[in-house]
Amino acid sequence: MTGTTPPTAPRKIQPDPGLDDALARLDESKIQKVVQRVLANETGARLKAYVETCVRCGLCSDGCHYYLSHDGDPQYSPVGKVKQTIWELLKHKGRVSPEALRRMALVAYTECNLCRRCAMYCPMGIDTAYMIQVTRRICHLLGVTPRYIQDTAHSHAATMNQMWVKEDEWIDSLLWQEDEAREEIPHLRIPLDKDGADIMYSVIAPEPKFQTQLIYLAAVILNESGLNWTMPSAPGWDNSDMAMFTGDFEIMGRLKRKHFELAQRLKVKRIVMGECGHAFRSVYDVGNRWLGWRSEPVPVVHAIEFYWELLTTGRLKVARKYEKKVTFHDPCNIVRGRGLHERPAKWSGPFVRISWRCIPTGNITIAAAREAESSTPARRTKPSGWKA
Ligand code: SF4
Ligand code: SF4
Repeated sequence: MTGTTPPTAPRKIQPDPGLDDALARLDESKIQKVVQRVLANETGARLKAYVETCVRCGLCSDGCHYYLSHDGDPQYSPVGKVKQTIWELLKHKGRVSPEALRRMALVAYTECNLCRRCAMYCPMGIDTAYMIQVTRRICHLLGVTPRYIQDTAHSHAATMNQMWVKEDEWIDSLLWQEDEAREEIPHLRIPLDKDGADIMYSVIAPEPKFQTQLIYLAAVILNESGLNWTMPSAPGWDNSDMAMFTGDFEIMGRLKRKHFELAQRLKVKRIVMGECGHAFRSVYDVGNRWLGWRSEPVPVVHAIEFYWELLTTGRLKVARKYEKKVTFHDPCNIVRGRGLHERPAKWSGPFVRISWRCIPTGNITIAAAREAESSTPARRTKPSGWKA
């Protein structure tokens, strides 16, 4: 057995019961059993190809905002993170100590947000995020997950949404936003469970929980565009999926299935999702594959594609263009994952500034928000790389 590569700079390690309690119950043989099971049953040619084709050139480093925001510290480079995690597990055939696993969990959950930017820099096209995701999967199966993000996965399992929103609270939130919007547009409705509508509009749970007015704004757009749309009242309305980030693929699969079954039950023609990129990734890339679906059983459109469609078909007219410069951050799951970057840039006029920096929201901010803070996951990179 061995430990991981020692870090080149000390990290601030906070206690986290999600890691500490689980690690106290583990030993090398328990860890090895799970690692070997995952390697044998859930990985294959893809992992082998990535591990065997990496030439350790380090060209991926400049793609990673963690590396850049930690002054080029090699332990934060993509290849450095793989070296501290999955390579270490492979090298020792999974036989590593609980303390070594702690280090791997911290890297996997708080120092890589699975954005895949580094894959664009790698001459071999190696997807580091995939290898870090495999590490998260192993940690999840061993019960080693930062407590705060695990709570969101528990919420998914219990309520089918990530914010513990109860069924009556969800419906109340929609009725509340409908009332608010009718002050402005008296004929506006948020149609619930309408059979056979052209569109089912779905959101992430933080919307009813923290930013309910976003539902109001979407309802205004959908109504003013004259669309035949609906929102579901039953569990399955939340399209997000934090279980995808914890490595709990069983819950991830349940969530995706529920979401699409709801749309099928309502016989809608397509699902329009709100802006959340991680939720979008979970339906077009990760959750669908886990379920063995070649494509989604009901077509899914991201908000960016949808608004683009409304604007280009003239259903939605822009009354007044926003003239000031805006910064469009580089959303990994929408831009790199789905190639939608041209569209928001065109909407925003000729002055859009694109920040080629991924922000570590969702899985990292939540994982590292409290107990598991090991470094500074949300450090800013310098703006020198911005493109005007
Ligand atoms: S992942 Fe790609 S860019 Fe990074 S060290 Fe390996 S071969 Fe080089
Ligand atoms: S996936 Fe993103 S955060 Fe992770 S190593 Fe690559 S660039 Fe860095």
